[in-house]
Amino acid sequence: MESVPYDKRSGKIWFNGAPIDWSDVKIHVLSHGLHYASCVFEGERVYGGEIFKLEEHTERLFHSASRMGFKIPYSQEVLNKATKDIVAIQKIKNGYVRPIAWRGSEMMAISAQQTKINLAIAAWEWGPYYDINKGIRLNISKWKRPSPDSIPWDTKASGLYMICTLSKHEAEREGFTDSMMLDYQGNIAEATGANVFFKNKSGELHTPVPDSFLNGITRRCIIDIATSKGIKVTERKIKPEEMNDFVGCFLTGTAAEVTPVSQIDKYKFSVCDVIKDLSKSYQSLVRKKTAA
Ligand code: PMP
Repeated sequence: MESVPYDKRSGKIWFNGAPIDWSDVKIHVLSHGLHYASCVFEGERVYGGEIFKLEEHTERLFHSASRMGFKIPYSQEVLNKATKDIVAIQKIKNGYVRPIAWRGSEMMAISAQQTKINLAIAAWEWGPYYDINKGIRLNISKWKRPSPDSIPWDTKASGLYMICTLSKHEAEREGFTDSMMLDYQGNIAEATGANVFFKNKSGELHTPVPDSFLNGITRRCIIDIATSKGIKVTERKIKPEEMNDFVGCFLTGTAAEVTPVSQIDKYKFSVCDVIKDLSKSYQSLVRKKTAA
């Protein structure tokens, strides 16, 4: 299954109002979203047949679209139901959901005010993104997160991801698993598809302030979990050289879940019990509904 290209899989995809055959979902090469990145998306996980934080993801999709200056032509309720329907139709037990909205083919120039907004939701069976038992290694990207006045930074707009793919490819070429991106001022920002936390020698967590990158849903969950365990979490600007003083590090994201990090550039971290425990607590939170 894994090696089958995504356009050759089977089942249904919700496309502009209804579930249709996977192979019938086609868009024209002259689509504004493809040429000009007028496109926003979400990434959701399914655990035991339930979509974790579905409403928050749908809300963020609408927020992303609005920041990109377009309106999704459905209500959030309709999309929540459509997402559940497609997960049920695809019989997804543990998997991933990808809603995506983009400007169509009615106009093909910078100005695209009259384009139709298309919307698709695809879902597939999917396991863990990284091996969560051993830490992954990251380089530091030469590409930076843009300043907040250069792009709608608090969104999952496709255009933002060209920086992530460039960074990730460069990291992989150098033998790393992922890449740590700095912000436009040189502070630590985030990995290519996940937020980052550090643990200091006193057992406290420190995480960058999300003021030029996504304040992830998983990030917020982990802050809540850690706080409820009595772990102090500080959100602040963090310079790369401060990594010298941190003893632990992990990434958080819908796909990455809680992924321990063993190395960023020349800085080494240990996969300690606190991180393993947070990872376990996150796993029980996401499966809570079905375990009950
Ligand atoms: N940053 C980036 C660039 C991402 O793509 C993601 C994944 N959506 C995150 C952070 C983490 O966000 P979330 O926890 O909401 O998945």
